[in-house]
Amino acid sequence: MPDRNDSVKENIPGAYYVDSSCIDCDVCRDTAPDNFKRSDENSYSFVYKQPENEEERLKCEEAVLCCPVEAIGNDGEDGKKESESVKPTGSQ
Ligand code: SF4
Repeated sequence: MPDRNDSVKENIPGAYYVDSSCIDCDVCRDTAPDNFKRSDENSYSFVYKQPENEEERLKCEEAVLCCPVEAIGNDGEDGKKESESVKPTGSQ
């Protein structure tokens, strides 16, 4: 489970973050390259830009779900956790 208090220092402030349990596997950078980057100095990923549109947000959510060690967190715009309540668009 991602831990906001353990997030890496390079994260840009906002809902999404990467914590120190990242194993540098490349999945998030591949899934959401507009939002995740690698710290070559420290060998982990971090959020360098928060999603700015629905497409980026969906890719970030996919990265959250695909991260093998659950290192990516999403506190939501207002500090609420959103990742556990995401529903496919179009469903009721
Ligand atoms: S998917 Fe998870 S473990 Fe892999 S690089 Fe991204 S944050 Fe790190």
